[in-house]
Amino acid sequence: MDMKDLIEEASYISKRKAATHGGEYCSPCPFCKDGDDRFLIWPLRHNNNGDYQGGRYSCRVCGKYGDAITFLRELHGLGYLEACTRLRLEPKQRSTSMRPRLAPKPRAAEEPSALWKEKATVFVNWCYTQLVNDPQTMSHLEERKITQETVARFKLGYNPQSFFRDRSGWGLAREIKDDGKERKLWLPAGIVIPTFEGGQAVKVKVRRSDWKEGDQWPKYIEISGSKQALSIYGDTSLSGALVIESELDALLVLQEAGDLVYCVALGGSTKPIDFQADQLLRKTQLILFLPDFDKAGAIAWSKWENMFPNIQRILSPYEKSAGDYFQAGGDLRIWLEASIKEIKRKAKGH
Ligand SMILES: [Zn+2]
Repeated sequence: MDMKDLIEEASYISKRKAATHGGEYCSPCPFCKDGDDRFLIWPLRHNNNGDYQGGRYSCRVCGKYGDAITFLRELHGLGYLEACTRLRLEPKQRSTSMRPRLAPKPRAAEEPSALWKEKATVFVNWCYTQLVNDPQTMSHLEERKITQETVARFKLGYNPQSFFRDRSGWGLAREIKDDGKERKLWLPAGIVIPTFEGGQAVKVKVRRSDWKEGDQWPKYIEISGSKQALSIYGDTSLSGALVIESELDALLVLQEAGDLVYCVALGGSTKPIDFQADQLLRKTQLILFLPDFDKAGAIAWSKWENMFPNIQRILSPYEKSAGDYFQAGGDLRIWLEASIKEIKRKAKGH
């Protein structure tokens, strides 16, 4: 008994959609009681902690997600043991001691296909040319104190208008929307922030220029098919790393203090840390964590502080983020240097 069986048992028809995670299916959503393909099902998928509990589901509209046990609990009101019996799963022993919960093992992020990387690299290069030939956008970046050298070094770009492309042209699986139309690949207008590996773009983020307060879509859009990993920039052989919220702020820090730290940008993501970033950070002597000064930043810190023994939080002296602090006249380099010195001094004192 798995997620696909449960959906069929609830008299919904599911159809196979892709091969990801051992097979992806879709169906109408039993929670929304609507749609046609909004409810995604992975009958063989494990949970992030490695447990298999009948596969996973996620509704793209109402946002309900979980494993087969959650499904039986939420839709049918079953208790944990009842759900296990129904799924023929061995119930887990609940430990009564205060043993700390083991953090989920980081998984390697899937590589984009060769075709995707090729298309993304061409797009990024084209956007770079657009940016250097557009004095207005260039001066907008300069107002944020991003220099021309930084633009060239990290191949920042500017996409002057939104494009919609066939997903298959980028090597992505076809997707049909709820309205029956084919989903397109969206390349939004705005500042283009790429992440490269081996000279090729593996992840492309766009800071939308037409974003407005209350917009249906977020300000930052990751181009579909981007590698689902944290972005790493700078010299990773350094003994210090700075984990920071925004990609643009990470590039600013490298511009000012790239000899002190390399940067890991969370990029507004709630996605778990991937294997590559985890391995790299484990080899790094000192990890500084600089969350934005808001609720999301506080939540991110509460998660990260338990992941690495050598992680230290720093907060920008004023303003919400490192980028804002820098723009308001703060000196990123002096402040970072002082923070590192202070942390090392305290460590010696023990
Ligand atoms: Zn739903």
